[in-house]
This record gives sequence, structure tokens and C-alpha cells, in this order.
Amino acid sequence: MTIAVVEPATAEVMAEIPRAGAEEVDAAVARARAAFPAWRAVDPADRSVILRRLADAIETRLEDLAVLEARNAGKPIGDARGEIGMVVETFRYYAGAPERLLGDTIPVAGGIDMTFREPLGVVGLIVPWNFPLVIAAWKLGPALAAGNTVVLKPAELTPLTAVELERIALEAGLPEGVLNVVAGPGSVCGQRLVEHPDVAKVAFTGSTEVGRGIARGAADQIKRVTLELGGKSANVVFADADLDAAAAAAPMSVFGNAGQDCCARSRILVQREAMDEFVERLTAAVAGVRVGDPLDEATQMGPLISAAHREDVASFVPEDAPVVARGSAPDGPGFWYPPTVLAPVDNHDRAAVEEIFGPVVCVIAFTDEADAVAKANDTIYGLSGSVWTRDGAKALRMARAVETGVLSVNSNTSVRVSTPFGGFKQSGVGRELGPHALDHYTEVKNVYFATGG
Ligand code: NDP
Repeated sequence: MTIAVVEPATAEVMAEIPRAGAEEVDAAVARARAAFPAWRAVDPADRSVILRRLADAIETRLEDLAVLEARNAGKPIGDARGEIGMVVETFRYYAGAPERLLGDTIPVAGGIDMTFREPLGVVGLIVPWNFPLVIAAWKLGPALAAGNTVVLKPAELTPLTAVELERIALEAGLPEGVLNVVAGPGSVCGQRLVEHPDVAKVAFTGSTEVGRGIARGAADQIKRVTLELGGKSANVVFADADLDAAAAAAPMSVFGNAGQDCCARSRILVQREAMDEFVERLTAAVAGVRVGDPLDEATQMGPLISAAHREDVASFVPEDAPVVARGSAPDGPGFWYPPTVLAPVDNHDRAAVEEIFGPVVCVIAFTDEADAVAKANDTIYGLSGSVWTRDGAKALRMARAVETGVLSVNSNTSVRVSTPFGGFKQSGVGRELGPHALDHYTEVKNVYFATGG
């Protein structure tokens, strides 16, 4: 059995690779389990050296990996280079972690009390197709640094860079069995990782629906889980904001990666008195988004991941949808969909409630600060968001009131290697990146040593 990997920009098969099933997952878990005692025992400084070597090896291959990712995921080559660069940065950042996994000493009676951060064992990593290698790296970096061994399951639609990474890791000196890749369907391979008794933890990024199933499956064995799920993030623009800057930045905060981004600011909440002015500027900015061949250096947005996904996205824009602006998209083969702005939209319309995961944005009016908070939080999700205003105190009040794991003021960024990333509410459980991710790949052990007297 093979996986025929399709290039979204051409709809052609670009590679065929073996398709793993439950047996291959079991074999990979067994390899990871066998490799665990030796990997956790590697001296911290030596584990750092190996992770740095892995980062160097990926950097040497950066352009090849970026082209592979751009073709397989349909993302602009500039974005793909940025993502592989972040993979390198992530391994470098966590290369510093093995020597910094500090414990505490706690004053107690009759002895000495100390804590250790122990690795979990074999960790299963299940990653999606929207940011294939970089999301894998966010999990691999802290998992490996903490002394765990891993089985990585990429999405069937985009397995190619993960398969390459397995090879690169071996060449870079990661011991055999420490990083194992199984490319196969989620319902088989992902499910097996969740059920397997030798997998201590599952770290998952993907849909909230599949995340719920993983949480249910993990409950049977009280398995540790980290879930990074969907979003419906609000980009809140007050009338006192720099409207030029907010409107210029808004398109790529939702059309980046063709909207297939859990942090997409897919609801733009605009204060009513600034609505007309903002929409006018937004419309002009959307017209300038360059949609086309992912390998063209000028491209800002590529195709959607698949024909089926394009149908899902299109279902949010029926004939009578309030389309106020529409960008262009190539004709012909490939899963293209133009950047689309819907306005005005009610916060309870389907397009404003569900995660579209495509280049469709809803513009929604609000009256005052309280209404902005209420509308921003009126969602099951809580992953990301932005606030645009020149009033610093209001920005801080909003930053505290909006129920999201990450928020930016006068900017639309969400993710940095050195800062925590993750969701409130049904956007997930746990945090990735920054120092916080290590908490999710270690257990705290408390040791009491009686000293007598
Ligand atoms: P999924 O949640 O189905 O896929 C994410 C990963 O989970 C893939 O590796 C997939 O494998 C795997 N998986 C699927 N089913 C199971 C299962 N039963 N047990 C364990 N693992 C499983 O997302 P989709 O690809 O179907 O995308 C659907 C929607 O999900 C999108 O439209 C978007 O709304 C949301 N999404 C959100 C993401 C995010 O970043 N938060 C990322 C991707 C999707 P495989 O694909 O190989 O079957």
C-alpha cells in the first residue's frame, strides 16, 4: 500500500511513499521504547550537542526542504523558507534545555526535599498538513530535549518533509529509534498511538473534532495529552486605531497560508463609526494579494490543500453571501480559491461561528469596548487574536479580557520560538514553544531524603 502525495497547485501526484498501518506503528513504538533508556541517559550537554547538530543539518538542507514543503502543502516559497528556518531555530532553542531542566529544593522537617523533571518515555506526535514540519518541530524540540523518544505521524496529505527529517536526524547523530516517522492515515496510525499502552503521551495539532476523540481515547489510560486545535480569532479594530496599518495588515493575518491557519484572524471586529473607512481600505489591500504558483517568489497565497477542502470552504460563501471584496485566483488545475471578504456579518452567522480554514474573512461591527469583548469571546474557541488602538490602557484592558492563549496589540503575530503558544477553551490544552512546553514533556518527581536528627 502506498500514499499518492498530491501537489495542490497542480492536482498532480508528486510522490508515492509506503503507507504505514497499525503494525508499522507498533514496530515504531517498540523501537522508540527500546531507545528510551539510553537516550534519557545521554549526558545533558551531549544531548544538547546532538540537537544542535540536528539543527545544523536541517539548515544545510533548508532550501530543499522549503521547496518540498512549498510544493506538497501549496504554500508560498518565502513562507516555506521561513517555516524551515523556524524548525532550525526551534531545535537550537531546545538544545539549550537539557542543561536547564532544573528542579527545586524545598525546606522540610527531618531531611531534604528535592524535585526532578523526568522524561515521560515514548511520546506520540500527530501533526496536521497546514504547517507540516514546523509544527512537528514545536513538539520534537522539547520532547527530545527532555529525554523522551518519539513516534511522529505526519498528515497523509503532507508526509514528505517528515520522512526527510527522519533521515536527516539519523545522519546528524540522533541515535536509532529516538525519532521514528510513520506516514499513514490518522484513523489507523493516529488512533493506534492514542491506544498503544507503551505511548505515555500524545501531542496533537489538528481539528477540534479529532482532538475531542483523542482526549476521549487518552482518558482510558489517563494518557497525557497536549491539544492544539481550531480557532476563530478576532482582530479587534477600534476607531482610534491607525486604520491604515490595521487594514494593511489584516489580509495576510487571515489569507496567509490560504487561511489554513489555526491562528487566522477570521473575524475582523470593527468599531461601527470606523466601519466604512476600514472596509474601503481593506478592499484595496485585498485586491493587492498575489495568489499563484507557490514556487514564484512574488506569490503571497497559494492554493488550498485539496479539492474536498475547497468544497468545504466554498460552502461558507453561498450565492447570497455578502461579498464586499474578492481577490483573484488562477484558473485551471490546482485547488484555488480567491481571498474573499464578507461584510457586514452577524457574529452568529455560520461563517462567523465555524472555523472555515480558508481565505474567507467576516467583518463584524461593534459599538464600544464592552461589546468588543463580548463579541470576541462569543465563540467556543480561544486561540489567538489582535487589538488595534492608540489607547494604551484600553489595549491592556482588552488584552486581559479577551479569552485567548495568545494576543497581539497593533500587530497580528501569534507565534515565536521563545514564547508560549496554545489555546483557551476548545482551542486546546497545554502550551507549545517557549520554556512552558517542557512542562508538558516531563513529570515532576518529588524526592524526600531523610537525613536523621
Ligand atoms: P484532522 O484533525 O483530521 O487532522 C490532523 C491530524 O490528525 C492528521 O495527522 C490526521 O491524520 C490525524 N487524525 C485524523 N483522524 C485521527 C484519529 N481518529 N485519531 C488520531 N489522529 C487522527 O484535520 P483535517 O486534516 O481533517 O482538517 C479538518 C479541519 O481541521 C480543517 O478544516 C481545520 O478546520 C481543522 N484543522 C486545524 C488545524 C490546526 O492547526 N489547529 C490543522 C489542521 C486542521 P490524516 O490526515 O493522515 O488522516
